[in-house]
Amino acid sequence: MDSAELWRLVEAQREDMVRFAQALVRTPSMPGQEAEVAALVQAEMQRLGYDKVWADEAGNIIGRIEGGDGPALMFNGHMDHVDAGDAARWRHPPYGGEIHAGELWGRGAVDMKGALAAMVCAGGLVKKAGIRPRGVRYVCAAVQEEVGGLGSRHLARTLRVDRAVIGEASGNQLRRGHRGRVELVAHLAGRSVHASMPDLGVNPHFSLARFVAGLRAMEMATEPAYGASTVAPTRVVSEPESANVIPSHLHLVLDWRNIPGESPAEIVTKADELLARSLEPDCRGEVKIAMKELVSYTGLRMAFVDVFPSFTTAADDPWLVEAQAVLSAAWGRGVEVDTWRFATDGGHLAGAGVTVLGFGPGDDAVVHTVEERLPIDQLVESAVGYLALSLA
Ligand SMILES: [Zn+2]
Repeated sequence: MDSAELWRLVEAQREDMVRFAQALVRTPSMPGQEAEVAALVQAEMQRLGYDKVWADEAGNIIGRIEGGDGPALMFNGHMDHVDAGDAARWRHPPYGGEIHAGELWGRGAVDMKGALAAMVCAGGLVKKAGIRPRGVRYVCAAVQEEVGGLGSRHLARTLRVDRAVIGEASGNQLRRGHRGRVELVAHLAGRSVHASMPDLGVNPHFSLARFVAGLRAMEMATEPAYGASTVAPTRVVSEPESANVIPSHLHLVLDWRNIPGESPAEIVTKADELLARSLEPDCRGEVKIAMKELVSYTGLRMAFVDVFPSFTTAADDPWLVEAQAVLSAAWGRGVEVDTWRFATDGGHLAGAGVTVLGFGPGDDAVVHTVEERLPIDQLVESAVGYLALSLA
């Protein structure tokens, strides 16, 4: 299908698609509370004539479009979003779905209900065009991406596909990977005493201070396309919590962003060795990967180590090269290939052997902020792109 025809098809659905994106933004769907927005997605896929639409055990909504024997392709967008915070800080209400100066405002507009609306719309247009794709196409609306990816972890185990497109924001430029995220906890144990007589106890704060200073000086792994791994000490919890007691235990969370190729096991070893060197006499310590347990709105429970895997699709991967050409022809402009700075559900799918790339409308700099807004023109362009890849 040529570019003009792709645009004609999408433009004819523009109003419906924008209305659907607005309805999604107007339906808050914090992680674990996606039931209502899932029902909207399911109804829209049914209305658009998908061959099969269902909710899986995790509550992900899956729309299937039959195709030939070629590679099966999944379009993946998550339904949850981060908290909007204080609504008074927003220029327009976070769940208003208002459009101002050609931009859809609100929490989730960019991350990533806009992309999800475009994917759902593009799937419907494949049916409308009456073209049988080379392979089966799925549009998957996943739950709980923002808290660890229960939805896409489940998809990776249960839905066999060869390729996936992640719709996270990229200003409609291609992305072929990202660093991972590993949540570590440094546990330190000293000896608790009354804070008026510190010489009788072992205060783990001093060892922790040496450890934190060591983290800043630590040499991090690097990779040309992804830059360096980073580590950020974030939350610290002391036990007991009282202000006039020397704590017996400290727990410091480390947010470690690892480049592809640096494994969680290597990271734990590196951090644990630094901690061992940082401990003062009589203080003990250990670094572990945090565990996480999530429950979906359907009641599916999943426990896992708190790792958002990195992924990387080779710069010369044949499908990536093809996708770049297809998108460039559809959009009538050059398409850059780069990497995302943040983690996505793509790592879960890549871990199951799926070739992953991605693009989505919107500016990633406004994601998770009170400035979140999506240019409608980019929304439309992304739908053209998803349609072009479906039909390629
Ligand atoms: Zn997202």
